[in-house]
Amino acid sequence: MTQQTPLHSWIAKKIGCPPEALTRAAIESYQLDKLNETLVLCRARSPFYRKKLAGLPEKMSSLAELQALPFTTADDVRERPLTLLTVSQSEIARVVTLDTSGTSGPPKRLYFTAADQELTRDFFHIGMATFTAPGDRVLILLPGERPGSVGDLLAQALPRLGAVGIAHGLVIDVKQTLEILQAEKATGVVGMPVQVLALVRAAITQQMPRPQLKSVLLTTDHVPAAIVQAVENAWNCTVYNHYGMTEMGLGGGVECAARTGYHLREADMLFEIVDPETGELLPDGAYGELVFTTLTRQGMPLIRYRTGDISRFLPGACACGTNLRRLETVRYRWHGRFPHTTTSFLTMADLDDALFPLPGVLDFAAVVSANQLQVTVQAEEMGGLETAVTHAITNLPAVRQLGLAVSVQVQSDRVSPPGKRQLTMLPAGTRSA
Ligand SMILES: [Zn+2]
Repeated sequence: MTQQTPLHSWIAKKIGCPPEALTRAAIESYQLDKLNETLVLCRARSPFYRKKLAGLPEKMSSLAELQALPFTTADDVRERPLTLLTVSQSEIARVVTLDTSGTSGPPKRLYFTAADQELTRDFFHIGMATFTAPGDRVLILLPGERPGSVGDLLAQALPRLGAVGIAHGLVIDVKQTLEILQAEKATGVVGMPVQVLALVRAAITQQMPRPQLKSVLLTTDHVPAAIVQAVENAWNCTVYNHYGMTEMGLGGGVECAARTGYHLREADMLFEIVDPETGELLPDGAYGELVFTTLTRQGMPLIRYRTGDISRFLPGACACGTNLRRLETVRYRWHGRFPHTTTSFLTMADLDDALFPLPGVLDFAAVVSANQLQVTVQAEEMGGLETAVTHAITNLPAVRQLGLAVSVQVQSDRVSPPGKRQLTMLPAGTRSA
């Protein structure tokens, strides 16, 4: 039998019911109470929400009424972050400024109190328990220098389950990180897919001993299946996916042992799937934009925040036996489709699935315009790869249907900064250099 997600009993405890009594009705009744508390807090303290919620019912009597509330967008957060705060700035323990390269205007800033950070630590502790046991040693390949950063919170969470978190930071020197992996006798790794793939492929070419890992947690917006496969094959370990964004308090959801979609922090956030064009709520099983409302956030609550991520709630129960919902692995963002206007479109995930199965591919960057797709591949060895990459891309249905001319360049240098991988779109009529 598949081991039940530890999020089940954790959420039951937060809701105040025994694990066997965690029904959808119990979860939703708790969520409704917390939603109403959040609305009271927002009206009382946040100028932005006071204005936004003016004239709307003071209290929701069912979760269905949530649809009457307006959305909060990334632009709202970007343009007037301080008006969203429900505490004084002196109570803020951590401000995260998000890299907004590629977008104009002010950067996005998210504000968290110490209590908000504790909620994240708590989630990391329980989520990691899915595949981490007392005595395990987990190498954390995420930014962790600043107090309250994702790597720092994770390093603080692991000792709570009797494990050791080894803060490392992003991988800069692949060989050095591989040596640390050995020297630290790590049993687990948490990192970004492309960074972990680079370790796996370098370990093979440099004939380094295989690390004795039990599990790897990959975290980012889209985790390519080919990278999961490559890591599992090379290191004989089990790979899990985490999904989260800063707006969610860094952590959002994590796969259970069944590995069929993420279980979410349903006691801290209320998730909906809406039609990205009309904003209408969609039923379970339908693809749409993920929207969430914070239920326990103190510093900067978000009501119906539009993530831009496209996914769906998987119908049916999880094999692990929980009543928690499952969000299907996110493949792309609504604005990450090219073109926006047609039903046949190309996404970075399509290219990921085509290119990462090719041995030697470490990463790639892609620039697309009305009639051209330029792909720059970072590879260990250049020989012969250009043909294989071109072949894989030209065979993609979207590339064929859109009639894109494909050009490929293979190089050994890094093609994109860690973490930020997206399809770069040029307006019609422009050509990249
Ligand atoms: Zn499950």
